[in-house]
Amino acid sequence: MSSYRYYEIPVCYMTNGLELKLPVHEFSGGEGPVVGITASIHGDETIGVEIARRVVEALKGMEVHGKVKIMSVASPLAFEDANRNTPVDSTNMNRIFPGSYDGTITQIQARVIADKFLFDLNTYIDVHSGGQDPVVDYAYVLNDEELSRASLAKILYRPVVDYEGTSATYTNPKNISTVTIECGGGPNEPYYVEKGVKAVLNMLKLKKAIDGEAEKRDDQIMISHIEHVNPHHGGLFVPALTYDAMNTIVEGKVVLGRVYNPMTLELLEEIRAPYEKNLMILMRGNINRIIPGDFTFMIGDLDSEIR
Ligand SMILES: [Zn+2]
Repeated sequence: MSSYRYYEIPVCYMTNGLELKLPVHEFSGGEGPVVGITASIHGDETIGVEIARRVVEALKGMEVHGKVKIMSVASPLAFEDANRNTPVDSTNMNRIFPGSYDGTITQIQARVIADKFLFDLNTYIDVHSGGQDPVVDYAYVLNDEELSRASLAKILYRPVVDYEGTSATYTNPKNISTVTIECGGGPNEPYYVEKGVKAVLNMLKLKKAIDGEAEKRDDQIMISHIEHVNPHHGGLFVPALTYDAMNTIVEGKVVLGRVYNPMTLELLEEIRAPYEKNLMILMRGNINRIIPGDFTFMIGDLDSEIR
């Protein structure tokens, strides 16, 4: 019978005297892999916490082999602020791994995660999403393609150059099977919550941390290039597409959205699809405010498909 325990990893005391701690939900059950899962490394990715919560609930009813550790909110200060960065030092934790005990609060936090959470893993699953506005749906292929395929994401992205300083870039060369999944965001629809939970549980099956045959899907597309299509102006963003376009091919160099000046109400910019066949990986489908250069659309280049 596997066991469950909850504990918190201390990071440091904050200015106000409260202790900054990182939560760990740990399931242990004899022989098996050591799997670590992190959610909300970016504090605006609320859906990751709900995916983690549901995975913890699901695992409580299952037999776990080896060890599964779930850090349900990896950037608590950023989460409190619904911010991609830690407000105290304006730092994106996922660009500074493995951090430093002699650095700012976010650097200390990253170092603690590296030394006290990631250090003993065989498999690492990092759960991301699109933050407050955008919705996203794909999985990275890093050092374990089978693991990434088991996320059941339709679109797999094998980057030519890794992002520097991510937790995944840290574990990737350490013989730790590593995957980053990007799932949902924006309106945080139940569809993406369920998809994220299924992804994590299916990857746990693949690694034999829980019983059952891992599912496969045969329509996955693997690409090596994603184009970021972001606005050059801030303002009021009005989408031209709905979220139904996610993970579909949008044909033609059509308008994806428009940016208006909220003061003069003039049209500042039409954001257009870059290709004749645009594989929609990240998009905004809500009327919202937008800042210049913000993540707005990510379009897969089908010419970069790896067969
Ligand atoms: Zn993220």
